[in-house]
Amino acid sequence: MNSTLQRNVVIVGGGLAGTAAALALSDNGAGTSGNSITVLDRRPTLGGRAYSYEHPALEETIDSQHVVLGCCTNLVYLIEQAGAADSIRWYDELFFLEPNGNRSRLKPGALPAPSHQALSFLRAPMLGLGDKLGIARGLMEFLRGYPASDAESFRTWLQRTRQTDRAIRHFWEPVVIGALNDGFDNCSTRYAGKVFHESFLRSPQAGRLGIPALPLSEWLVPLTDLARSRGVEVRMKSGMTALEQLPGGRWLVGTEGAAFEADSVILAVDFKQTQALLQGLPDGSAAAADFDHFVPAPITTVHLWYDREVVDVDHAVLLDTRIQWMFAKSRIRKWSTYRGTYLELVISASWPELKMSRESILRAALEEVAMFFPAVKSAKLVKSGVLKEARATFSVTPGLDRYRPSQSTQWPGLFLAGDWTRTDWPSTMEGAVRSGRLAAGAVVGNARQFLALELPPTGLMPLLIR
Ligand SMILES: Cc1cc2nc3c(=O)[nH]c(=O)nc-3n(C[C@H](O)[C@H](O)[C@H](O)COP(=O)(O)OP(=O)(O)OC[C@H]3O[C@@H](n4cnc5c(N)ncnc54)[C@H](O)[C@@H]3O)c2cc1C
Repeated sequence: MNSTLQRNVVIVGGGLAGTAAALALSDNGAGTSGNSITVLDRRPTLGGRAYSYEHPALEETIDSQHVVLGCCTNLVYLIEQAGAADSIRWYDELFFLEPNGNRSRLKPGALPAPSHQALSFLRAPMLGLGDKLGIARGLMEFLRGYPASDAESFRTWLQRTRQTDRAIRHFWEPVVIGALNDGFDNCSTRYAGKVFHESFLRSPQAGRLGIPALPLSEWLVPLTDLARSRGVEVRMKSGMTALEQLPGGRWLVGTEGAAFEADSVILAVDFKQTQALLQGLPDGSAAAADFDHFVPAPITTVHLWYDREVVDVDHAVLLDTRIQWMFAKSRIRKWSTYRGTYLELVISASWPELKMSRESILRAALEEVAMFFPAVKSAKLVKSGVLKEARATFSVTPGLDRYRPSQSTQWPGLFLAGDWTRTDWPSTMEGAVRSGRLAAGAVVGNARQFLALELPPTGLMPLLIR
């Protein structure tokens, strides 16, 4: 690893972006003479939006299920580096369930990429032949990669490639809304194309689905432990209240009870806070104005505990419902069957649910879940909860790329990180980790130094990718 002098770095925000930045820099010599890395976060644990907490009334630890894909190489590498590779359960197959009992299973078969899913796709009852031909024609557009420009909306693309209504409802919509957390008008074809290229075409490994088998905060503890073991000072419950550039170029970061001088500061907080902070800096208003283009998007999750087994799959996409995804957390976490079943139902892009009462969300979810898993009708619902996250992700709206800032700023020594900065990724943990590594690279003067390698394309894909 390059040992460029980094001296004192303060990282504000200990989400995955800030944590990844700290770990990258600590590979580069934290704790060695003259160098120090401090992470400040206002919360009690690192992990930011990827968090779990003890729900006092339910007496359960709950979180909103996060998933990864095989192509999330920077995140997966980070987890492996922290010795926690076993904490992710990997799945090669996806189940798509219809209320009429039809079950479609997409999984890699004997054919080489990009056709590895073709046999299971041809057998899938959720789509007719015409739908499948349209989807195959559409996927061909993402064979070689995805568009460089993010100007086109995915709705325009669906119309342009003449997708059928059923192909949209049973294939394009669940994947796009599940991955990008917004409707077709608010997702650019560039990022939708990236999702399809990586998940369905590049290689079986890139498209594998990984599910953390622990509550999220517990899942990420090894990252904090690794950072501390490498000399990173992690200060929780330390919200930054002031940021100032000192004469001579160093920075002063203030919290309620302390002040830190630094050669470099990485702001790894959300776009709203970054906007407010930059506005307070000399000539900051213009840069901060760009952040008005970011739109936060909500996710709602419904948590159900039953007294017995009620499902026979670990996860499934539910079609023709408000619920996009079912996770059987008790199965994923390998609970013994006597503990019953813990299900989480995910409703992405859940603007309507933000305005609904928890009781009505729960009522609707219970009705829907019974359509797919009739066993719940004879089981006892032991407890239930609803978790609304109003600012879960940001939407990759068409044209947003030009407003996503680089990790380097116009102020020497000040850097940005966060899933929303320029990473070529949508709002994901992988995007956050990449942003942190890019920011760490910018601190040491070599932006891509800490990025992990992409998974290589397999089968025929090396011949096709541009
Ligand atoms: C419900 C939900 C479901 C999701 N599902 C998935 C999924 O399935 N797969 C996936 O990849 N991604 C998913 N995401 C998105 C993922 O969680 C985020 O993209 C990622 O965690 C963002 O990390 P970050 O470090 O950029 O930002 P954040 O996690 O927001 O971190 C910012 C940190 O800054 C801290 N902070 C803010 N202000 C201050 C201050 N003044 N001083 C000090 N600290 C401060 C905050 O406490 C926070 O810890 C989901 C998100 C949610 C909420």
